[in-house]
Amino acid sequence: MRPLRVVVIGAGLAGLEAALRLERAGIGVILIEREPHPGGRAAGSLLHGFRFTPGAHAFRSGDQRLLERVASLGLGLEIDPLPAGSEGQLLRDRVSAIHPTRLRGIARLPGAGLGGLRLPRIQRLLARYARVLDTQAPERAAGIDDRSAFEFGRLYFGRRLAERWIEATLAEVTLGDARETSRVLFLVRHGLGDGARRVVLRSGVGVLVEAMAKGRTLQLGVDAAALERSAAGGLRIVAAGASSASFEADAVVCATPPAEAARIANPLLSYAERAFFAESRAVASVVLSVGLACERGLGPRRIRIPPVEALPLSHVAIETGSRGEAIPAGHAVVTLIARDAWSRPHLAAPAEVVEKELLVHGERIVPVLAHTPLFTQLARWESAYPRFDVGRFRAIGRFQTIQEQARRDGRRLYFAGDYLVGPCMEGALASGARAAQAVLTDLGVRPPRGERP
Ligand SMILES: Cc1cc2nc3c(=O)[nH]c(=O)nc-3n(C[C@H](O)[C@H](O)[C@H](O)COP(=O)(O)OP(=O)(O)OC[C@H]3O[C@@H](n4cnc5c(N)ncnc54)[C@H](O)[C@@H]3O)c2cc1C
Repeated sequence: MRPLRVVVIGAGLAGLEAALRLERAGIGVILIEREPHPGGRAAGSLLHGFRFTPGAHAFRSGDQRLLERVASLGLGLEIDPLPAGSEGQLLRDRVSAIHPTRLRGIARLPGAGLGGLRLPRIQRLLARYARVLDTQAPERAAGIDDRSAFEFGRLYFGRRLAERWIEATLAEVTLGDARETSRVLFLVRHGLGDGARRVVLRSGVGVLVEAMAKGRTLQLGVDAAALERSAAGGLRIVAAGASSASFEADAVVCATPPAEAARIANPLLSYAERAFFAESRAVASVVLSVGLACERGLGPRRIRIPPVEALPLSHVAIETGSRGEAIPAGHAVVTLIARDAWSRPHLAAPAEVVEKELLVHGERIVPVLAHTPLFTQLARWESAYPRFDVGRFRAIGRFQTIQEQARRDGRRLYFAGDYLVGPCMEGALASGARAAQAVLTDLGVRPPRGERP
């Protein structure tokens, strides 16, 4: 019998996870990637001997899929929890150490006032919703996707805690506006965190991308343009450009952001699927990475800036050389990450202007930025993170139902990406795993023993 072949379009974390799982089940996989390197938004950078991820990616010690993948690739020693006391939050011009995943720590957030007295309610609320809160399938909570995270926080804990806890958390981890973001996203990922710690990979997320890409059949620099049914009963992917390369497959996983997925898969989509993709929105972000010779006393830190502080920045990350080989010893990379509202009008502004303005604000928080940098790198994302506004989880639930029907009708087209589960690396991996599981079921292939679906 002819061996099965699956094409995965997009070698970001979602596509890489899907490809890895399919290959481990014995399926031949080709990964098509438009850029000259894999990784998508989690791709690493190498500049002046510094290896870093332009988004200064961190995750939580509760992100099971990420931890499992890191361990399965033998990267366990790369896991590095941020030291206690290294998370901070800005109140006016002062940064205070925070512990935002414990009740007592939340009550003591700078500027939180007396809202903390009402905090124990969060445990009752989380217990009430526990049945539907599922990090791997958040659409299960569609029934409570009826209110913004900010409204929810103000109602139960008061305005100050809504601003200093919920708005600050969502601004940091999704760059999203808590006044529009669904409370489901907050509850499912950030409600309490159970003391989960912030974790980084010593050499940057780039090491994970490299390990996931190693050994895969990658077609880099290939821009998938269209998908059609082939005469042989499978699917054909046609690439853009002079080569007009095409790839035949028994099944296709489209692991690109939603706008691209809609463009590529258009002829095979239903009206409702096109509407789902058209309504998928994203936040923009401008990110400035600054390489510095390290001042004494500068340690790894993440500093959150609540939107009520009215600065362009949502957070600042400091990574220092002493923590690994990614950044040379005695040096640091400071990453300034701007909010959507500031980034959008600056996406096309001259780089010198953008850089200067971000540095002026950054210096107020990290004074060492006033020193001459060794290098700066400006990255601009029109779609940095998918938005999960109120109603989005209901829309994802409906989209999943349509996918199940299309699979029953014999369509072998699957979608993966953080926009389907959660705006983070864990969400991207979970979506890739789900897509791979669906392909295996439909092609009648068993997943390898011991692998979690
Ligand atoms: C500034 C920033 C900071 C972040 N910080 C964090 C963090 O601290 N923690 C965290 O968990 N997450 C963070 N994230 C989010 C995280 O990076 C993403 O959730 C995750 O990388 C998304 O992976 P993905 O595979 O879904 O999408 P992507 O990474 O976007 O991958 C999609 C891939 O598809 C390719 N593609 C698109 N169109 C085509 C085409 N036509 N043909 C072929 N290939 C195509 C793209 O080039 C890309 O490689 C951050 C993101 C940004 C931008």
